[in-house]
Amino acid sequence: IIEINHLKKNFGENEVLKDINVSVEKGEVLTIIGSSGSGKSTLLRCINLLEKPTSGEIVYQGENVLQKGYNLPKYRTHLGMVFQSFNLFNNMDVLENCMSGQITVLKRSREEAKKIAFENLEKVGMSRFVSAKPAQLSGGQKQRVAIARSLSMNPDVMLFDEPTSALDPEMVGEVLKTMKDLAQTGLTMVIVTHEMQFARDVSDRVIFMDKGVIAEEGTPEDLFVNPKEDRTKAFLSRVL
Ligand code: ATP
Ligand code: MG
Repeated sequence: IIEINHLKKNFGENEVLKDINVSVEKGEVLTIIGSSGSGKSTLLRCINLLEKPTSGEIVYQGENVLQKGYNLPKYRTHLGMVFQSFNLFNNMDVLENCMSGQITVLKRSREEAKKIAFENLEKVGMSRFVSAKPAQLSGGQKQRVAIARSLSMNPDVMLFDEPTSALDPEMVGEVLKTMKDLAQTGLTMVIVTHEMQFARDVSDRVIFMDKGVIAEEGTPEDLFVNPKEDRTKAFLSRVL
């Protein structure tokens, strides 16, 4: 569904992504693991063009989205993103949070947006909280609303950047459970996570990044049980 070819990203002299090649297949769950600073967030941010790649290609529906004249705003509506830090609109209630993008960006009617928002809040177990303001919710509940908001835009691919790392430990499980349920619906997901057990359970494919390169890629079994590369082994021995 997305193919990344020879992607590079520099911040000044600092080469943060060095020739990344990876494709995301429809319906798959791809997780990205690796040490702090290895470039995981930068890769996600390049995929949805929050960062402009220095060079390389991102091919979506057969077209390189980095070519001149490509309709980037349109491309970005096809991607959902969930951040570590929820990013809900604090002045809006839960329902409005899930409706506003549908109305302003997708030009849906209020009725339609409301129906879709409800369906997605139902999926994440938050439909009882439609009238709550973000400040009244726990971190785990906020993150589930953020997921519902993103789903309400009907993205082709959902990107998650450490969605549980800002949560108190007791809230992590509910968000991971929600993501597991979504994975089972056939949603295409790319997930940066430090939750190794979760990555092992839910992924179709795992990428291990080290210093701006994909050092190893394979099934969860390949990566977690039979890692080939020394740097993968070293990383796993630190985090497992
Ligand atoms: P973490 O696990 O800590 O989130 P990460 O793998 O997501 O790490 P990135 O956030 O992608 O790592 O950062 C990779 C490198 O790029 C780091 O050296 C970081 O300092 C640098 N970097 C990231 N964003 C910027 C920026 N906007 N300007 C300059 N340097 C940046
Ligand atoms: Mg990061």
